[in-house]
Amino acid sequence: MEKTFNCPECGSDSTQKAKVLYESGTSTSTSTMAGIGVGTGGKFGVGVGAGSGSSQSELAKRLSPPAKPGSIAPGVIWIIGGIIIFGMAIQFFPARAVGAGVFFILVALGFGMLGYRGIKKENDKRASYKDEYAKWERLWYCVRCGHTFYIQ
Ligand SMILES: [Zn+2]
Repeated sequence: MEKTFNCPECGSDSTQKAKVLYESGTSTSTSTMAGIGVGTGGKFGVGVGAGSGSSQSELAKRLSPPAKPGSIAPGVIWIIGGIIIFGMAIQFFPARAVGAGVFFILVALGFGMLGYRGIKKENDKRASYKDEYAKWERLWYCVRCGHTFYIQ
């Protein structure tokens, strides 16, 4: 069993770890509904709707963990694309098509830059995600007054 902590706001010991609340909240909060409606003119309508449980999913949203970092794969694909274009571009020079060669080298550099920036962004996100996730694991919620707080 996990230790409980008193709420710093109201002193209540009815506190819960955000992670536990979030995980129990998300498993029950979404439901899918399907319906068939028949109109007076004999027309059919089919509808599917995703609804979510009111208070619990709101709470789960509030106590949700930090967003997961994305993949670096798109960045890698940009860089591979840049290398392929570069390989094509240098073939313009022996053919004395210097203008086209320079143009495609610039395009290749652009691809490389996009790829580099994409990978760097995800890496930075990955680094801060670890910290934010660790912080989230210390987030607690007071059932009595709704206050959220971090434990040490
Ligand atoms: Zn409280």
